[in-house]
Amino acid sequence: LQFLGFFYRELRQSLVDMEAMFEGLEDGTSTGATAAEFGSESESESAVSAGAAVSLKNVSFGYSPNRMVVNDVTLDIAPGQSVGIVGPSGSGKSTLLRLLLRMYDVTAGSVSVDGVDVRGAFYIYHTELKQSSLRSRVAVVPQDTVLFNDSLLHNLRYGRADASVEEVLEAATCARLDATLALMPDGLDTMVGERGVKLSGGEKQRVAIARAFLRQPRLLLADEATSALDTATEIGILQSLQEVASGRTAVFVAHRLSTVRSCDVVVVMENGKIVESGSHAELMRGKGTGTKAGMYASMWASQQAEIEIGRVGEDAKTNVGVF
Ligand code: ATP
Repeated sequence: LQFLGFFYRELRQSLVDMEAMFEGLEDGTSTGATAAEFGSESESESAVSAGAAVSLKNVSFGYSPNRMVVNDVTLDIAPGQSVGIVGPSGSGKSTLLRLLLRMYDVTAGSVSVDGVDVRGAFYIYHTELKQSSLRSRVAVVPQDTVLFNDSLLHNLRYGRADASVEEVLEAATCARLDATLALMPDGLDTMVGERGVKLSGGEKQRVAIARAFLRQPRLLLADEATSALDTATEIGILQSLQEVASGRTAVFVAHRLSTVRSCDVVVVMENGKIVESGSHAELMRGKGTGTKAGMYASMWASQQAEIEIGRVGEDAKTNVGVF
């Protein structure tokens, strides 16, 4: 009888535990294994500063099934690490970002963020239902920033709708938009976009950076963020981007190698494959890993030569003017 009593109590406790687990699963705060994978809300809050862990395993992808534009890419990005992706036009850099954002599903392999496959049913459950989800913590600084025909305040709040005016101003300062703001007739209430004050390419990118700042992302993705800018503006934008990226996981796709120079790791892509990777210093010494040692160094040399030719051209123009 004693044994049966003990057995009954054990069984009851197990049923209570199971009930709690299923309740937790339903409201997304489960104490079971699945919740541990995603982290509870307080865990994800505390992980914000560290950034997300990103892993691509043997990823292949084609926009059409007969042409793969990403071929067997494996890349692990540690929390807080910054990675630059460079390579010739059409090598698959932007496509890789799209796969990270799950704009497309991989054809083969897997993409995971914080150990969870981005295609996983629980990931979708978690991201669509919970605001503390990962996707709400990803910020993108795109090639072309879209502005709405609305106030600058509204445009900046696209980063986070519930941001206070103080937070928006802080973000604008971080993105070095404050000087522009000071010149606006109605400050944050100034209408921008097609039917309002037109912002320059650099200013639009600053809006995108301010939006990213407001989002406090665990993962920052920037695609050619400085391609259309002159060198001085590019340096300013890069500094702001680096401030937002500080302590977070960041992936920068770039044409200009100077953009990724300070990244922890730079990967060089060619024909959808990673052909060389390492820090800028390692790659410059031809000490990166991969099948094409020295590719980065020669790309760097040819970009420097282009810059020099550009400078000589500028000097020549000035001289023509002087004489
Ligand atoms: P760039 O430096 O010129 O921006 P990239 O390295 O970012 O190039 P991707 O934009 O990823 O390259 O493109 C890789 C390949 O996929 C290219 O051949 C491109 O033509 C093709 N591609 C890109 N987007 C699409 C799409 N939406 N539909 C079909 N093919 C596409």
